[in-house]
Amino acid sequence: MRERELVIVGGGPAGLAAAVSAAENGVKDILLLERDQYLGGILNQCIHTGFGLHHFKEELTGPEYAERFIRQIMGLKGVEVSLKSFVVSLNRNKELAYLKPGASESVKARALIMATGCRERTREMVHIAGTRPSGIYPAGLAQKMINIEGWLPGRGVVIIGSGDIGLIMARRFTLEGARVGGHRDTKRKPRPGAQCGAMPGGF
Ligand SMILES: Cc1cc2nc3c(=O)[nH]c(=O)nc-3n(C[C@H](O)[C@H](O)[C@H](O)COP(=O)(O)OP(=O)(O)OC[C@H]3O[C@@H](n4cnc5c(N)ncnc54)[C@H](O)[C@@H]3O)c2cc1C
Repeated sequence: MRERELVIVGGGPAGLAAAVSAAENGVKDILLLERDQYLGGILNQCIHTGFGLHHFKEELTGPEYAERFIRQIMGLKGVEVSLKSFVVSLNRNKELAYLKPGASESVKARALIMATGCRERTREMVHIAGTRPSGIYPAGLAQKMINIEGWLPGRGVVIIGSGDIGLIMARRFTLEGARVGGHRDTKRKPRPGAQCGAMPGGF
């Protein structure tokens, strides 16, 4: 099994920044594994602006922000990017197995960075009761459906949570011609960073 100086799992902004920083600080043999067909992670579906203000002193969309890092990575020696590479196991010796189309590969990491992002919680996990889960979407999934897959999850929408993501999703649905019936929140005023889900109307 081939050994690599550094293996990074996940090609979202955290994985990309880790690869750039490691390469700039002298790590010469880096393997970046990303299960998707492109780098950038969640940023690819965040097509609104507001990214890059701190790092690039410019207002960029998510894909534009990711593109800056991707170009940097492509220009670095010693970084190998492997797309469509889904890591499925990891043991105590830092040996990883990953699936590529038509192949199963393995690699041993001298150092390992897990940058696999987070997972959205389900309706039950955020304690929304009910017997009809269809038509209830976490914000990230609804955003992916609209911005990446080209599907509109509904035409009448109620948003639970009025943090920035809730408001971004309200704007996105409105721009696509959907009717946003209102926000629901436990607070009286909109609050930043609130838990949010988008629900097409009719339940
Ligand atoms: C709806 C929404 C709106 C947002 N809006 C903003 C915003 O306006 N401004 C802002 O600053 N942030 C925003 N964010 C947050 C921002 O997108 C995240 O903080 C950021 O993407 C996290 O980066 P990450 O690299 O940790 O994870 P991710 O971007 O999730 O990247 C993780 C990567 O790991 C890969 N991966 C996971 N498991 C495996 C595996 N087993 N094998 C191989 N690869 C794997 C995934 O495919 C993915 O590419 C938003 C997030 C969401 C969901």
